Amino acid sequence: MKILVLNAGSSSQKSCLYDVPDDRLPQQPPDPLWEAQIDWAPTVAEVKVKANGQELKQSIAYESRSPVMEQILNMLWSGATQVIADPSAIQVVGHRVVHGGQDYHDSVRVTAEVKAAIDRLSDLAPAHNPVNLEGIQAIEAILGDVPQVAVFDTAFHARIPDSAAIYPIPYAWSERGIRRYGFHGTSHRYCAQKTAQILGKDLKDLKIVTCHLGNGCSLAAIQGGRSVHTTMGFTPLDGLMMGSRSGSIDPSILLYMLREEGYTAEQLDQELNQASGLLGVSGVSNDMRLVTQAAEQGNPRAKLALEIYIHRLHALMGSIVAILNGIDALVFTAGVGENAADIRARACENFAYMGLKLDLEKNSSRPRNQVISTEDSTVEVLVIHTQEDWAIAQECWEILQEV
Ligand code: ADP
Repeated sequence: MKILVLNAGSSSQKSCLYDVPDDRLPQQPPDPLWEAQIDWAPTVAEVKVKANGQELKQSIAYESRSPVMEQILNMLWSGATQVIADPSAIQVVGHRVVHGGQDYHDSVRVTAEVKAAIDRLSDLAPAHNPVNLEGIQAIEAILGDVPQVAVFDTAFHARIPDSAAIYPIPYAWSERGIRRYGFHGTSHRYCAQKTAQILGKDLKDLKIVTCHLGNGCSLAAIQGGRSVHTTMGFTPLDGLMMGSRSGSIDPSILLYMLREEGYTAEQLDQELNQASGLLGVSGVSNDMRLVTQAAEQGNPRAKLALEIYIHRLHALMGSIVAILNGIDALVFTAGVGENAADIRARACENFAYMGLKLDLEKNSSRPRNQVISTEDSTVEVLVIHTQEDWAIAQECWEILQEV
């Protein structure tokens, strides 16, 4: 089965084509047959396409995104990157959709109703849901009535208990949909499943904290395979300190900046999402590698940024351990989680009190999909390479079996 996956963000779009057997899903993620990345600069799309052992790069001037997407998808069935005879070889297209609200607990086949819901939920994810919908519509225009599947970032968290989901605000606000939704769900779910596979245990018997530390950062508390709490909230701004997002701050800071400093809502939005976090504190970058480098060279604000990052990680990891009343596994994933051994070591340090012991040699040996705690550690610590695109392809495969 040929499965096309579209993972569209506000400023980039990744697509890939998987070929999997019709009758079973492989245990290990296969390499995609074809991969494309489009970075949407203001007037020019920077495109990279990888297939047949080649990588092609192109800059395409654009006014609207759909013709560029069409041009790139054409490279699936023509030219040096051709991997299929014609578009009809694609049996299903899966889309990462950021916001599924309260109604979508699972991935769904795209229908007119689902499209209307994605559109309606654009209010809650203005940078993402409209581009996700645009991707669905572009596929309709290019590939006709091929089955499409929406895989929601929020779905895995859609059944967290009310005590975790409802904010202590006037209840009428909650009735208007202001609640914790949580994000990165596809990654958290994938990591939990992979953890059970690696440990050779049933997911139902495990209590896991998954730490998705990338540009965006979130933790999830997973019990019996279900998310019971997560640190992102109504929007992906809540929770941990991130690359350029603040994470949780006292809400009165916003009121103060509005009233006393004359900020507008748009300015606050921009500053808290794009000029805070590692970037805001260090003044160096949103990239953990550059901040770490600057700290090593003695930059005091870069050092401070790292101290705050670790402090907040400890605080929220601790709260999740408490929510789960102890844990069996602690998982690190995404750009920072998978690559930054020093951040993992420091994150783990303060859990030695509960018998968590990191194997420092394993931790620093570029681990991937493996346990990095010692044999006698009370908690299994793992590094998992998150593969959201493969997780989306799996969802598509499963949904097609139900038809
Ligand atoms: P996104 O949330 O955009 O998907 P990623 O999961 O790719 O992001 O994570 C991106 C971040 O990972 C980068 O900003 C960088 O700070 C961090 N990162 C990548 N490689 C390393 C590394 N070797 N050491 C430390 N941090 C790294």
